[in-house]
Amino acid sequence: MEKRLTIKVNEKDNVAVAIRDLEKGEDIGNGIILLSAIPQAHKIALEDIEKGGKIIRYGVTLGYAKEKILKGSWINEHMLDLPKSPSLDNLEWGTNIVTDLPDPPRKTWMGYRNAEGPAGTKNMLGIVTTVQCAAGVLKVAVERIRKELLPLYPNVDDVVAVTHPYGCGVAINAPMAVIPIRAVTNLIKHPNFGGEVMVVGLGCEKLTYDRVLPPDLINDENVLTLQDYAGHDEMMNAILSMARRKLEKLNRRKREELPLSDLLIGLQCGGSDAFSGITANPSVGYAADMIVKGGGTVLFSEVTEVRDGVNFIAHRCISKEVCDKLASEMSWYDSYLEEGGVDRDANPTPGNKKGGLANIVEKAMGSIAKSGRSPITQVLSPAEKPTEKGMIFAATPASDIVCGPCQVASGIGLQVFMTGRGTPYGLEIAPVIKVCSRNELKKHWFDLIDISAGDVATGEKTIAEVGTEIFNFILDVASGIKKPYSDVYGFHNDMCIFNPAPIT
Ligand code: CA
Repeated sequence: MEKRLTIKVNEKDNVAVAIRDLEKGEDIGNGIILLSAIPQAHKIALEDIEKGGKIIRYGVTLGYAKEKILKGSWINEHMLDLPKSPSLDNLEWGTNIVTDLPDPPRKTWMGYRNAEGPAGTKNMLGIVTTVQCAAGVLKVAVERIRKELLPLYPNVDDVVAVTHPYGCGVAINAPMAVIPIRAVTNLIKHPNFGGEVMVVGLGCEKLTYDRVLPPDLINDENVLTLQDYAGHDEMMNAILSMARRKLEKLNRRKREELPLSDLLIGLQCGGSDAFSGITANPSVGYAADMIVKGGGTVLFSEVTEVRDGVNFIAHRCISKEVCDKLASEMSWYDSYLEEGGVDRDANPTPGNKKGGLANIVEKAMGSIAKSGRSPITQVLSPAEKPTEKGMIFAATPASDIVCGPCQVASGIGLQVFMTGRGTPYGLEIAPVIKVCSRNELKKHWFDLIDISAGDVATGEKTIAEVGTEIFNFILDVASGIKKPYSDVYGFHNDMCIFNPAPIT
C-alpha cells in the first residue's frame, strides 16, 4: 500500500497537512500538484482561496487569507489573519454530552490508598518550604536523608524537597495571592505524600504556617522553623529527625488493588506541532475517555490554548454552573493578559510555528483533542482540588513549567505530556509520560520519549490502538510496574507555582 502523503481532518477543511517533507511538483492526489516544497506537518491549500477567504482545518476557521492562495500552495503563519476569539457571553452548554465512551481493558490498578481523596502513585516523603529562603538548606538536607535514612525504609520510594519561588517579598494580601497560597496549601497534602505533613519555614516570612495549614497541624510534629536552631548541625539534625519519624510511618504503606475511581491524572502538551492534534492528543484523549468510563478523573488545562475553542468545551459541560465557571476562568485570563499588554496570540512559540501551527486557533483545536469526548463535570481555578470525578477542566497557564505544578497541587498522581517538537520536561512528585506526535521524533529521541502516536498519521495504527497502548502504560506507571524515561533519568523541573499577584 502506498503510504498517504497528507491528512485532511474534517470534510469541511480546505487544507491538508503534509505527513512528510514534500517536494515542489509532487502530485498529492485529486489533481493537486504542489506549487512549492512543503515542510512536514505544514498546511497545503486544497483549493484556490480568495483574499479574505476562510482557511478551514478541523472544520473550524483558523483565519482569513491575507492574499489570494492558489491550490497546491504552502500556507504558513504569515498568510492568515487571526479571527476574533469566541465570546464568553451566553455560551451554549450541554449540547454534546456523549455516553458511548470506550470501555477500559483493565478496571483496577495498584496504588497507595489515602484516608481521603485520590490514591498515591508513589510513596514519598514530601518536605514543603513556606519560603524560597529555606530552599538551599532543604536541598542539602534532602540529599542527606536520601543517603542516610531512605535505605532504612524500603517501602518509601523517595524524599522530595518541594521548594518554590513564593513565600516572601510578595503582596500576600493581594486578591490574586490566593492562587500561590492555595498551591502551597494543596502541595503539602499531595496524595503521594500519604497524609504525612512536613513543612520547613525560615521564621520571618510572610507566608506563615496558619496560611497553609489548619491549626491542629501546626506543631512540633509537622513544622520546623530554621531560625529556632543554633547553627548548621542543630538545624540539620532537627530536619533529619523529623524526617525519620515521618519515614517510619510512610514505610507502613503498601500498594493495593484499587478501582480506577481512585486514580487522578493530568494531561498537558508542550512543544506542539500540527500533528499533535491528529495523532498524540486524540490518542491520549481516547485513553482519558477509558479512564473516565472506568470511574477515574482526568484534568486537562492550559487556558490560552483552549480559549479559541471554548464553545466546543462548553457544549460538553454537564450543567450551567460548570459552564459559568468555565467562562469566568477564561474571562479572568483574558483580563490578566490584557493587563500585561498582550493577547492570546502571544502563545504560539517559534517552534510551534516551525511545526506547522499557524496560530492560536489551530493550536487550540489540537490541544482540546487531548480531552477526548467525555462530558466535563467540573471546572477548577488554578491549583484547586477536584471534588467531582470524570473529565475536568483545571484552569492553568499553558506554560509547561507552570501548568505542571498547578496540576500537581490539584493532586494528580501522574501526568501525560504530548509533544511534537520534543522536551525533556518532568515532575519529581508525579511521573510524567511522554507521548510524541511523529515517529521521526521517537527515532531521534528514542530513549526520552515513552510512546509515539506517529503511526496514526501514516495510517498504520488507529487512534483506538495507540489510545489503548497509552491507557495500559498509564496504569503500569501509576502501579509502579513501569517507569517513564523522565523518572529513569531524574529529569525533573522546578516547582514554578503560578503567582499572578505582585512581588514587592
Ligand atoms: Ca503546555
